[in-house]
Amino acid sequence: MPLLQQSPHRLEPPTALVGKKLWLPRLQMGSSRLFAAALRSVGVDADIFPESDERTLELGARHCCGDECYPLKITLGDCLKILEQPNTDPAKIAFLMATGHGPCRFGQYAPHFKSVFRSLGYADIPIISPSFENGYTDCADSSSQFVRTAWRAIVSADILLKLLHRTRPYELVPGAADALYNESLEDLSRILEVHYRTFAQQGKALHEGLTRARSRFRSLALETHARRPLIGVVGEIFCRLNTFSNEELVRRLEAAGAEVWLNDVSEWVWYSNHQQLRQIAREGRRFSVPAISARIRNLFQRRDEHALLSLFREDFQGREEPQEIREVLSNAEPYLPQEGSSGEMVVNVGKAIYFARKGLDGVVDISPFTCMNGIICEAIYPRVSRDHGGIPIRNFYFDGTQSELERDVGIFLELVRNYSRFKAWPSPPHSPSYTRS
Ligand code: SF4
Repeated sequence: MPLLQQSPHRLEPPTALVGKKLWLPRLQMGSSRLFAAALRSVGVDADIFPESDERTLELGARHCCGDECYPLKITLGDCLKILEQPNTDPAKIAFLMATGHGPCRFGQYAPHFKSVFRSLGYADIPIISPSFENGYTDCADSSSQFVRTAWRAIVSADILLKLLHRTRPYELVPGAADALYNESLEDLSRILEVHYRTFAQQGKALHEGLTRARSRFRSLALETHARRPLIGVVGEIFCRLNTFSNEELVRRLEAAGAEVWLNDVSEWVWYSNHQQLRQIAREGRRFSVPAISARIRNLFQRRDEHALLSLFREDFQGREEPQEIREVLSNAEPYLPQEGSSGEMVVNVGKAIYFARKGLDGVVDISPFTCMNGIICEAIYPRVSRDHGGIPIRNFYFDGTQSELERDVGIFLELVRNYSRFKAWPSPPHSPSYTRS
């Protein structure tokens, strides 16, 4: 079932979703919240899963045999937790669970959910599954207002998270950066849930909201001469971005003295778009309607991203993302040739190399235990490190049973500090030095 359909007059939810609340997994909390706001702007009653907890794991484990990936256990547990709430009417809810037919088990999540729901008597609960293979355009036609709004939501959430990670390690008042992040998220959510008559109006409102967020963060009291090692974080998209599943590894790295540069959600969208166009070309349909429509979507997405990010040039100095996903993929090419490999492993290896060349002091890969992408990356990282001045690259695996995380983070940061004394590439600026406004 598509997420949205085009009526003669406007984009709207399909009949099966009318009167239902659509629940979205907490990928990165901010991007999920803003994506939900974008859905509300076209009439879908969308919200994100409540925070995961012990009950999530308990319910997820009841319906897993142990071979499933950790993100499946968490997202399934969260769905079941919603279903067991006394005020939940199963006839009035639906779930969103993306899918894909790539090299790993991700494509099995939605079928597994369906089978568990069926066994529990919830066979009629719709599961909406936009697919990676077509750049998630089965959400709605790629030229539609929704696809553009959703993209603006993702980029805005990435920007806010980057502002948080750029400032939180240097804050003088503990909790101040998180408070500004939450305030800004609320502000942007209110902007994105409005249905604007034109993209220009929406763009203007978003521009103003992000400018307010920038002013808030620029007025934050920060240590100005602190030198912290900068750690790039790559890895499996859910575990890397979902703070419950990675046991707040970013905060732990910060508490141990580091600043973190986390791979964002937009990068995955660029990769999906790239793969979609490659597939179209492979099928000999370079000049087909889907190819042209995908290229036009890319063009608008590039323009929107540039317009929103340009507000933060000073704030993200030294932490600029690659201009094109092609740069990341060509970094990975000597280790994972594009014609023979695909998926997150390619993006993660390529980005780890980008981080090394950008002068970062170390790279962390966050993956679920037994993740196929994580395992392949772990086999390649020693070569990547050797070819890039010995930059420390460490895999952290999660399955809900981590016990020595503090110790492992501490050891990793020792390696990082040693490497940073001898590395070949100059460090990006340390504490934020932009002009306060
Ligand atoms: S990327 Fe890893 S964790 Fe995610 S579905 Fe694939 S194998 Fe599982």
